[in-house]
Amino acid sequence: MTPRISDAPAGRRDELAANLAEVRERIAAACAAAGRDPGDVTLVAVTKTFPASDVRLLAGLGLRQVAENRDQEAAPKAAECADLGLTWHFVGQLQTNKVKSVASYAGVVQSVDRSRLVRALSKAAANEGRTLRCLVQVSLDDKEGRGGAAPADVPALADQIAAADGLELGGVMAVAPLGEEPRPAFERLARLANEVREAHPAATIVSAGMSGDLEAAIACGATHVRVGTALLGGRSAIVR
Ligand SMILES: *Cc1c(COP(=O)(O)O)cnc(C)c1O
Repeated sequence: MTPRISDAPAGRRDELAANLAEVRERIAAACAAAGRDPGDVTLVAVTKTFPASDVRLLAGLGLRQVAENRDQEAAPKAAECADLGLTWHFVGQLQTNKVKSVASYAGVVQSVDRSRLVRALSKAAANEGRTLRCLVQVSLDDKEGRGGAAPADVPALADQIAAADGLELGGVMAVAPLGEEPRPAFERLARLANEVREAHPAATIVSAGMSGDLEAAIACGATHVRVGTALLGGRSAIVR
């Protein structure tokens, strides 16, 4: 489970390949334990703080979905990798003044947590002539500041996204609360996801689980896991 880290560019492809194989094995084992088909869980590589060259190597290894959490970093990286035809997910707290930029490269915005952001994304997507798939980010604890809508606000936000020009409701996303057992939190998320899906049957995405808790997320029905450290190695900067 320990990610391999090295500065040697020649060995980087091998490191990423070995890490990817381990992560795929963990996903397969978690799916087997939960009686789920591994094909129903999409691996999204979180490439924040790592260079575009790593994105290129991961694409060469077959990964198609990549995620970033800061527009300043994501925009140039997506531009550098534009020829790869990847789907870029935005997973960070999003300020409305960055929406125009994010709408130019992202295919999925996983961190939609307020009405004002829905309006801004809709306008930007319409201007770009693009369709943005949006997930409602749910706050699974009561702490402020890490992003995410309160569970009670999720159904209305989902309705707003579904009705907005240029946007498509994909489902829900959450980060497990720090210092808590992830499973009860992921179970709360699964219940909310069901509620959203009753009103919007196409909104099937449940994005949950990271390097440390992807097994718990898969046990609770995650369709997308967002994995950084276990694939790419440790990050020096704190960018969570
Ligand atoms: C960084 C990040 C991840 C990946 O976390 P790891 O623990 O490195 O796998 C997942 N989701 C979000 C929203 C993140 O910001």
